[in-house]
Amino acid sequence: MILRIFPRLTHLTPAHDEYSIVGLPGLFQPPNVTEVHVSCTFTWDRKVAEGLAAAWGQYFPVVKLGGPAIAPPDEEFVPGRYVKRGVTFTSRGCNKNCQWCLVPKMEGKLRLLEIRPGNNIQDNNLLQCGHEHVGKVIEMLKKERFAARFSGGIDAELVDDWFAEALRGLRIDELYLAMDHPGAFRQVEQAAEKLSFLKTKSRQLRAYVLIGYNHDTLEKAESRCWDLMKIGVTPFAQLYQPADKWIEYSPAWKALAWKWLRPAVMAARERRREEIGEVEEVKEARPKKVRKERTKHVRVPADIFD
Ligand code: SF4
Repeated sequence: MILRIFPRLTHLTPAHDEYSIVGLPGLFQPPNVTEVHVSCTFTWDRKVAEGLAAAWGQYFPVVKLGGPAIAPPDEEFVPGRYVKRGVTFTSRGCNKNCQWCLVPKMEGKLRLLEIRPGNNIQDNNLLQCGHEHVGKVIEMLKKERFAARFSGGIDAELVDDWFAEALRGLRIDELYLAMDHPGAFRQVEQAAEKLSFLKTKSRQLRAYVLIGYNHDTLEKAESRCWDLMKIGVTPFAQLYQPADKWIEYSPAWKALAWKWLRPAVMAARERRREEIGEVEEVKEARPKKVRKERTKHVRVPADIFD
C-alpha cells in the first residue's frame, strides 16, 4: 500500500482512509505500507515536505517526495490518490506561458490523459484539449452522480459557441473562468455572455482574479472584482505568490482577498450597494460558520524542521 503524506489539509486533500495523513508520523503506523509518497502542492511548503520525507524515512525504507511543487506530475492520474475523490485531471501542462504561472515550467506543454471519473475538473487549461477531448469529458460528467464543477479555471479566451452549447445539457454546480490580468476582462465578459445560462443560479459562474501581481494596487484589484460582479460573474480573489519566495502581504491586502472569498457576503454587499449607492461603506460581521471552518485547517508549521 502507498501511504500518502501531505504538508497541509486543504479542501482537495484526500482524507478518506488511514493511508492519507497530514503531517508527522504518529505512535502507530498503518500496516502493509510498501512506499511513502510525500505530496507537496505549494512551493512555500517545500521545506516542510522535505522535513516530512526525512521524518517518515525513519519508519519506512522507501519514501518519495513529489507533487506539483516538486516535480512534474505523473502521466497517469489515479482518482483519490493525491486529491480527494470527485476531483479529476484529464490533461497536464499548458501551451501558454503566462509569467505568473508555474504550470508551463513544472508540467511543460499540454498532454491529454485518459479520462478518469470525477465531477470536479481541475485541468490547468481544459479548453486547449480540443473539442473531441472536451466532448468526452462532458459525456463523462453527465454520468456523474453530482453536478459538474469546473474549478481548474476555464481560459475565457477559448470559450466558444461549441463549448457553451456542449454545456447546456449538463448539470453544473459552478464554473470558474480565469481573469489573471486586467486586460482579460473583455475576454471574461465575452465568455460570460456565451455562458449566460449559468447566471440563473446564484454564484454558478465565477472567476479567479489574480490580485497583488505586477504593481497592482488595492483600488485596481477591488475595481476588477466589482467589474465582474456587474456582469454577473462572482470573483474569487487569489493573492499572487511567486515560486521562489513567500510574499507577506499587508493586512489591507489580506482583508481585500478575504472579502472577495466570500460570495454570500459579496452578494449582500452588492444588493446593499444598489440600495444606497456607492457612497456608504457596508459593514458586516464575519460569519461564524466560516470562522469555525478556518480553525479546522491543519498544516505543519513551517519552522518545525529548523
Ligand atoms: S495561467 Fe493558465 S493559461 Fe496561463 S500558463 Fe498557467 S495554466 Fe496556462
